[in-house]
Amino acid sequence: MAAEIQPRPKARKPCLLSKIEAFQEVVTAAAIIPKEDGVISVSEDSDCYENYITFFKLSDCLYSSSEFILSEDYNKMSPALTYQAHQGRVVVVLFVLEMEWLLSTGQDRNFTWHCSESGQQLGTYRTAAWVSGLQFDVETRHAFVGDQSGQVTILKLEQDSCSLVTTFKGHTGNVTALCWDPVQRVLFSGSSDHSIIMWDIGGRKGTAIELQGHNDKVQGLCYASHTRQLISCSSDGSIVIWNMDVTRQETPEWLDSDSCQKCEQPFFWNFKQMWDSKKIGLRQHHCRKCGQAVCGKCSSKRSTIPLMGFEFEVRVCDSCYESITDEDRAPTATFHDSKHNIVYMQYEPTTGNLLTSGTDKVIKIWDMTPVVS
Ligand SMILES: [Zn+2]
Ligand SMILES: [Zn+2]
Repeated sequence: MAAEIQPRPKARKPCLLSKIEAFQEVVTAAAIIPKEDGVISVSEDSDCYENYITFFKLSDCLYSSSEFILSEDYNKMSPALTYQAHQGRVVVVLFVLEMEWLLSTGQDRNFTWHCSESGQQLGTYRTAAWVSGLQFDVETRHAFVGDQSGQVTILKLEQDSCSLVTTFKGHTGNVTALCWDPVQRVLFSGSSDHSIIMWDIGGRKGTAIELQGHNDKVQGLCYASHTRQLISCSSDGSIVIWNMDVTRQETPEWLDSDSCQKCEQPFFWNFKQMWDSKKIGLRQHHCRKCGQAVCGKCSSKRSTIPLMGFEFEVRVCDSCYESITDEDRAPTATFHDSKHNIVYMQYEPTTGNLLTSGTDKVIKIWDMTPVVS
């Protein structure tokens, strides 16, 4: 029976509210100022001021993180406190209000935390590679540090020391973004390998679920906790909104076999069986649903498996294909095109606005309330 693939339900789209095109360089980080109609942006070098948009030279804070006080008209910022934190460019800065801590990472491969009251450095930890994702759990004081080697390191921070708890290895590319949901106690990691992994820490079963819905490097991750939706974006400009209310399953381990686990034809390295049965060896494939090693003939069909995180069609064996119903194929995410190659993304939950910054040197502000409401 050839099941028909249901057309995706008409998605309510993010609505473009405004575009800021005054940049001379690509904006590498930016933030929507909550409750105000303003944006703070960081770019490599730029010193012009526009309306309520404030630029400041990143070169000024190449070797330090700076805290700025915004002036009333948002036309300029005055440095309030400077932290001498790094020997290389600062990559991620995270302010933890509850602890009065400023966490930062740099290209010098140091992760440091400072007291935001005194400006004093409290501790530092040397990471294996430079860090591009950083999150913190206030309740347990765990820092999640995602680096260019593809691993996520979990550190327990004390006032002036830290200890290594564990590392998560699952990505085949750099970790490019991290996002922590403190309520469900789930960590999301995005990577240049195009995938997102959902690490279920609260579930205490070691469950890690892959979300495959991007065709390019994942560049940003945000969690809308009030609607339990994960927003992700990739460098090809796509924005994906994942419904996290659905229970997804882990993908199976790929099984090893010297012959197809369906038709028993030998795979090409199985010389003995090829000789004994006078058969030509076949290439090995794996069914994404059951994990069995199968030949191309026994896995000729493709299907989405949204409940395993596969929003795109993947290889499945013929028997699994028959078992997947139209209902199973209903997408659990919606897909949107931002029409620029995204380098940075931020979601502001109080207004429901999403900011994307692209390689086109444009910042776009999106009203997400039609899709995240
Ligand atoms: Zn076969
Ligand atoms: Zn299968």
